[in-house]
Amino acid sequence: MALRLTQSLIRARESRRRDIGLIDGPNRLQWETLFNRIQHLAGALRSHGIRNGERVAILAVNSHRVFECFYATIWAGGILAPLNHRLSGAELAGQIADSEPDILFVSPEFLSLPAEVRAAARDIPIIVFDDVAAPEPFLSYEALIASADTCEETQRQGDDGALLFYTGGTTGEPKGVLLSHENMVANSLNFISHIGMDERTVHLHCGPLFHVAAAARLFSVTQAAATHVVLPRFVVANVLQTIAAERVTLATFVPTMIRALLDVPDLDDFDLSSLRYITYGAAPISEALVRELMRRLPDVRLVQSYGMTETSPIATMLGYRDHIVDGANAGRLRSAGRAALLAEVRVVDSDGNAQPIGATGEIIVRGPMVMRGYWRNDAATAKVLRQGWMYTGDIGYLDEDGYLFVVDRLKDVIISGGENVYSQEVENAISTHYAVWSCAVIGLPHEKWGEMVHAIVVPRAGLNITAAEIITYCRSKIAAYKCPKSVEIRFEELPISGANKVLKSMLRAETMRRSTVGAPAT
Ligand code: ATP
Ligand code: MG
Repeated sequence: MALRLTQSLIRARESRRRDIGLIDGPNRLQWETLFNRIQHLAGALRSHGIRNGERVAILAVNSHRVFECFYATIWAGGILAPLNHRLSGAELAGQIADSEPDILFVSPEFLSLPAEVRAAARDIPIIVFDDVAAPEPFLSYEALIASADTCEETQRQGDDGALLFYTGGTTGEPKGVLLSHENMVANSLNFISHIGMDERTVHLHCGPLFHVAAAARLFSVTQAAATHVVLPRFVVANVLQTIAAERVTLATFVPTMIRALLDVPDLDDFDLSSLRYITYGAAPISEALVRELMRRLPDVRLVQSYGMTETSPIATMLGYRDHIVDGANAGRLRSAGRAALLAEVRVVDSDGNAQPIGATGEIIVRGPMVMRGYWRNDAATAKVLRQGWMYTGDIGYLDEDGYLFVVDRLKDVIISGGENVYSQEVENAISTHYAVWSCAVIGLPHEKWGEMVHAIVVPRAGLNITAAEIITYCRSKIAAYKCPKSVEIRFEELPISGANKVLKSMLRAETMRRSTVGAPAT
């Protein structure tokens, strides 16, 4: 029998029928109830033609209904395409046209759909998450569950598609990534093996479930027959209250969420004593922030993961024991960890040959968690998938114990006077300055050096800093050739993508536009 995502749902229901499987505000659903609702919803999807790889799209904030849609779609044999609700109407319409769903689910927040989305979805049923009847022409989610018959599970192979995620759009247009049952089960095994999860685990989902990093946890938690706690979105006070109220044992955050948590003035007043693990990743994190988190929550075990949508997403993990650093392994906190249980990780030069220990090159990953390909884009797939290896577009190096250090994205490396400058290394140096709230480092064209290091720095509220101070500070931290030659002090937030990552391509374009008018701002 093939590895399939529904097996863990059946097992959780069989072993924990009357136990609460999912908590979503006042909704506390037993595994039995969840299972029944999923089966009825799958029946409704089947009657709308979902049976064999057809897509179901969803545009929603997190809720128990999103969880049900994931499993019901897969149960019926379809492929779920979660859409990023932070995108513009035109971008969403583009993803709807690309994924060609037969059904669209929306949460009430998005009922007044942008005109482009309405046009793109004009021929398909739109189902609204609701507790009362949905307005015409939408269909009511609860009415469908109440009226549809259950359906038998569509038998799928491990290789069959289950999910269609769009990448973050940090380096260009988001690409559709088709992930299979086997990909996601492999990811769960990679995750669970590091955390020792079981049915006593209570996991908080507060990241957006349209992103693979958050969504993959839905499957991992079910795989362990543990309990889900779902928040609509990340609101720091709700996160802290919910951890205390529901005795959450494991939470998953991205670095910006950790920053927000640590900035809560009365953090110590919340009862976080139930929390055993925090897992973090999905974006670079500074060692300073990891150390601060360890200092403030000394009883919580930290686990980092590195990966990408194309690897479902986990490729490497830095376990909690690796966070206990002493003389011998100092510096390990800057690592993204070792190959996950089922992964192989290598670092290669531009010809694809393995680099020696300590030498930087492109990170490549192989294993059952690597996508089968981009959605309907064989040309893009052929560029990144070679002999089963996923070429990540990230630069890093391995140490002699197999720890991976991610230093930058290939597209963000600055080549100045023939030397490689890793933008993330410079950002890490700048962000240790007490007056810096956030920063981004980019390369600007330069006649003599090819490219020149330029920093954009946002000071903390109420604090001020000059370009000269930043440059002097950097010189005390990193080699002179890596230090910014020019600095822009900016009082508004940096532009971020729908997935919360800084859009350096936009900063580069903006800065270039301005520098053709005058010299780069310093
Ligand atoms: P796009 O591919 O559309 O440009 P994206 O790469 O940001 O967008 P994701 O798949 O969400 O989309 O992000 C994966 C990337 O995030 C990785 O390639 C890597 O650059 C970065 N990343 C993820 N985890 C870590 C980590 N632990 N440390 C450093 N970087 C990380
Ligand atoms: Mg990417």
